[in-house]
Amino acid sequence: MTPEDAQAELEERARRLLTGKVEFQLSAPKLEFLPEPVVPEIAFGGRSNVGKSSLLNALTNRKSLARASVTPGRTQELNFFEVGEPLALRLVDMPGYGFAKAPLNVVERWKMLVRDYLRGRLVLKRALVLIDSRHGVKDVDREMMKMLDEAAVGYRIVLTKADKIKASDLAAVHASTLAEARKRTAAFPHVHLTSSEKGMGIAELRAAVLADAES
Ligand code: GDP
Repeated sequence: MTPEDAQAELEERARRLLTGKVEFQLSAPKLEFLPEPVVPEIAFGGRSNVGKSSLLNALTNRKSLARASVTPGRTQELNFFEVGEPLALRLVDMPGYGFAKAPLNVVERWKMLVRDYLRGRLVLKRALVLIDSRHGVKDVDREMMKMLDEAAVGYRIVLTKADKIKASDLAAVHASTLAEARKRTAAFPHVHLTSSEKGMGIAELRAAVLADAES
């Protein structure tokens, strides 16, 4: 089988799995509420408004899968989605960060929850760090990446909303983000370009999620 055939097959398998049975399982405000660690997990993180809910919806071909994360008061919780029948993996929506107005205790609580989850979760296979194409990597994103580097959780950087900027600007932010990724110890030296709106990069990202879960 050629590498192209293998990739096409992986993408098709990932499409069938991720657009098949996917259900919201639970929101965990504390580590003691985490589900049994019985299948691989892939976690999604990013600044508030980065397009995380839209990306989860695009990956699973749903209109409003990530509803729990937009319910007020549920934003500081880890949301678990179960994928596959039988259960094959879980997608974990980590709370958004970087809200300028968040009080310090909220930020501290966020850090403790996310850090403890990243450090202690043996089934966590990969994290996806979402970056808005229009803004590039910010200091709050670097903090998130540092937490992942320190927890030794490998991560992929995903540029979102790629349809919102000119091709030349996208090429520039892609290059600068790749340069940042290369400096981090646990980041993949690859940056995914996506648009949930246009479906760009979604098939490839689904395949990456499945490959990571099976790694
Ligand atoms: P979250 O807070 O990270 O979950 O972000 P959302 O998914 O709610 O998206 C924030 C805003 O960005 C919404 O108005 C979305 O419609 C918009 N958005 C998200 N993804 C895309 C995209 O790929 N293209 C465009 N043009 N807008 C997007």
